[in-house]
Amino acid sequence: MNQRVKIEVRGIVQGVGFRPYIYRLAQRFHLTGNILNSESGVAIEIQGTAPDIDSFLRALPLEAPPLAQLHEISTARIDPRIGPSEESAFLILPSTRSSSANTLISPDIATCKDCATELLDPSDRRYLYPFINCTNCGPRFTIVRSIPYDRAQTSMASFRMCPACQAEYDDPLNRRFHAQPNACWDCGPQLELVDRAGAPPPGDPLAETIRLLKQGSIVAIKGLGGFHLAVDAHQPEAVQELRRRKGRGEKPFAIMVRDPSAASELCLLTQRDTASLESVQRPIVLLSKRTAAFDFLAPDGNHLGLFLPYTPLHHLLFANTGLTALVMTSANLSEEPIAIDNREALTRLSTIADFFLFHNRDILLRCDDSVVQNLPGRTQFVRRSRGFVPAPIQLHESMPSILAVGGELKNTICVSRGRYAFLGQHIGDLENLSAYDFFQESIHHLQQILEVSPKIIAYDLHPGYLSTQWAHNQHDTHLVGVQHHHAHIASCMAENQLTGKVIGIALDGTGYGTDGTAWGGEILVADLQNFERAAHLAYTPMPGNAQAIHEPWRMALSHLWQTFGDDWRDHLPPSLLATLPRPAVKLVEQMLHTGTNSPLTSSCGRLFDAVAALACQRLTVSYEAQAAIALEACCDPRTNLGAYPFAIEGAACLQIDARPLFTAIVEDLHHDVAPGIISRRFHDGLADILTEATLRIVQRTGLDHVCLSGGVFLNAILSNALETRLVRAGCTVFTHSQVPPGDGGLSLGQLLIAAHQR
Ligand code: ZN
Ligand code: ZN
Ligand code: FE
Repeated sequence: MNQRVKIEVRGIVQGVGFRPYIYRLAQRFHLTGNILNSESGVAIEIQGTAPDIDSFLRALPLEAPPLAQLHEISTARIDPRIGPSEESAFLILPSTRSSSANTLISPDIATCKDCATELLDPSDRRYLYPFINCTNCGPRFTIVRSIPYDRAQTSMASFRMCPACQAEYDDPLNRRFHAQPNACWDCGPQLELVDRAGAPPPGDPLAETIRLLKQGSIVAIKGLGGFHLAVDAHQPEAVQELRRRKGRGEKPFAIMVRDPSAASELCLLTQRDTASLESVQRPIVLLSKRTAAFDFLAPDGNHLGLFLPYTPLHHLLFANTGLTALVMTSANLSEEPIAIDNREALTRLSTIADFFLFHNRDILLRCDDSVVQNLPGRTQFVRRSRGFVPAPIQLHESMPSILAVGGELKNTICVSRGRYAFLGQHIGDLENLSAYDFFQESIHHLQQILEVSPKIIAYDLHPGYLSTQWAHNQHDTHLVGVQHHHAHIASCMAENQLTGKVIGIALDGTGYGTDGTAWGGEILVADLQNFERAAHLAYTPMPGNAQAIHEPWRMALSHLWQTFGDDWRDHLPPSLLATLPRPAVKLVEQMLHTGTNSPLTSSCGRLFDAVAALACQRLTVSYEAQAAIALEACCDPRTNLGAYPFAIEGAACLQIDARPLFTAIVEDLHHDVAPGIISRRFHDGLADILTEATLRIVQRTGLDHVCLSGGVFLNAILSNALETRLVRAGCTVFTHSQVPPGDGGLSLGQLLIAAHQR
């Protein structure tokens, strides 16, 4: 006796080869029925014997295609079709336009094994074709104009499939069934190499590119979500030349390596690191440098960011060419968005690149590479972008449609639809017009592919942020201003599906406080509606405001002045005093006295700067968090070196006083204590005092769930030290694994708070 079952699958199941997968599965278990794309995913009906249906249902989630994300599977018994209405086969039914409303577009995914094999198979018709792809791999998000996701709505619309490609596209048993970017040598996109003048040099574009790279040239290469500037990573002079032309002082470069074995020539890899490198999202993975020989690639820290080839073109750059590692840095001038358009690249990058490797498949939306690092027990995002966007984050409950516009630095936006929050790609620092344009473009595009137009907008309280100003310029919307650190904690709550009250430790560089000062070393008691500031680092002046961020010695002087008063000079070792820029010191002293241009801050990032300036002689920096990275990099691994003291003052709102810390550091400097030991004592001391302050709040409130968020938690040493202490003291600790702890995750928190404050 045959049975019939109706199955609904929600999640990322369209455009990822899911229907042919179900088709093959139904055939394997001799089932009839049908499948179609539905409102929220796919709807399947199957009919057959009970054991066959059971086997089908067991296999369904286990063997799903790599890009599919199954969020929910529901099944219901229905009446079998018998007699004249009985089917003889399993069918893929056409989907209707109206069924696109709740579907999810897949992120861009690295070339799969099957395609990579075909690419290098001389007998394959796509041998060496740089745009080979299938339903399991290839571009998605970056080529989609709007939904439904089919070829006409993508930048592949201008390429007409040849009969061979069309036959694959139409065959449910083919790996390229409904693969929208399907193409080949005969019908698809092609490469073109040009010099700065736009003239093509003779020869095959790819072979010529490889020759130029081996010769030490800088080539701008059009990729998946934008252009990279590429140069052979094994040629220090060429790398220095790229640094010089790009105006990129000491900031590390990302390196694309041929394979994991080429990665382990540069860095030490754990099994988890290899797994992260080889994951279908292919993020940049921060890894420990093997030797100082590669310091020219990343001078400050212990880390190098490595990633593996993720497009067929990348694979070809490394396939039997002799190249094993290429610097592949986002093609832009300093902090501008990554270039995506051929002509735009030629004009914007003409002073940097010697040659340009173009192709004629348009990138409709720029999307930078993602960056992750492995901490004990979890993988943490530094930047969540290509490969992950626009996959949603699941929320604890259904939300109204809301747009959250994020902060200023490392901006991302976030849009909710039902139980999903869609975090957009990395936009970068909203400090210039082109970043602002990208920000607006990204808001428009995300709303378009999700088919929502939110009437509620959440923004940061900082009146000067461009994102805040954008929000205030929108009409007919309900605006919700959200405090920066409250948003950080809410973002950690969101991804851990917490809804009650928690203690939130938010540590970062800066965020606008409700008292108008720059907060950044905060312990909050918060839920998704409100927060109370329960503790913070004591206020310290930032002499020269933004100047104090670029010149960490100013923060050191500010702390020394707070600790020792006017005769701070007498307390310093003369050798250290001699390193300070004398005329500027006078000016800073004046500022501290009068308070002019010296806003107060409780920032933890600035505290790191001050300590790094003293311990590592990091007097100035050329990129964000550079001093803190140097301090972390030199940290002594031993944990029994003692911890520096802090003091706690106040009752209702605790204040963490750093004066005992600076007294102790200066004492150690007099005794020539190594920077690594000073760094360790500082990390451990900070973890101790944050634990103590938290435990006092635990006692007062009875809460024991602690959320850790903010960019400072990218520091693995502090993260581990604090987490270990809190857990030992009986707290349940929640951290980030789906969005970055830094400002890249801010918009998710803003969104949750706006939903609950309504
Ligand atoms: Zn493939
Ligand atoms: Zn073709
Ligand atoms: Fe922040």
